[in-house]
Amino acid sequence: MQPRSAEERRAELVELFREAEVCARCPLSKSRTKVVFGAGNADADLMFVGEAPGMHEDQQGLPFVGRAGQLLNSLLEEIGLSREDVFIANVLQSRPPGNRDPQPDEIDACKPFLHRKIELIEPKVVCTLGNFSTKLLTRSQRGITGVHGRPQVHELGGRLLRVYPLFHPAAALRSTKTLEDLRADFARLPALLEEPPPVPIGAVAPMAAAASATAEPPAAPQMDLFG
Ligand code: URA
Repeated sequence: MQPRSAEERRAELVELFREAEVCARCPLSKSRTKVVFGAGNADADLMFVGEAPGMHEDQQGLPFVGRAGQLLNSLLEEIGLSREDVFIANVLQSRPPGNRDPQPDEIDACKPFLHRKIELIEPKVVCTLGNFSTKLLTRSQRGITGVHGRPQVHELGGRLLRVYPLFHPAAALRSTKTLEDLRADFARLPALLEEPPPVPIGAVAPMAAAASATAEPPAAPQMDLFG
């Protein structure tokens, strides 16, 4: 694929947003107030992927604007970043009624949008927030408690990048221990962003391959979530 400039990728992201605004691929399109496409820097090195919009997000058309979003803002500030530096999206772009869990058919309908966002933004690191985005983007059924804070290399949006699973901020609002874990995992983000891009295994010199195998165990067996 030809490399595209940041302006070209941003223009395509705007087109994708227009497509999402009128999307009716799942029944949630009938009950939503606004599509929550995602927001932030269209050329960000760091992307966050949450679960689905809640009531406030549905009303404003923006991700993470409620209490969980305020915590996310503080955690970003603690590592010297702001929302303008990163791009924040969700697995689903429409609010599930009563904030129930996303359903497999809804995730399936919405995931091409998420993959395309990752392709166009070209982040170095994608932080998955909670179980739904982690299972979707790591293509594994391993839950967040077992995998948080350990980067995994995956091919997403046509490139190799690091997926860094984190607890969902809403879970951290309910448990002090989870908040401590989330804060400790966040503290490792600046160093992770400084890492050189991952290289395909076949292209790594033997010593480097041994080192990276220690630092980043290979992803769990690739198992597609929805078959
Ligand atoms: N929780 C999410 O997962 N996403 C939001 O946008 C808000 C709350």
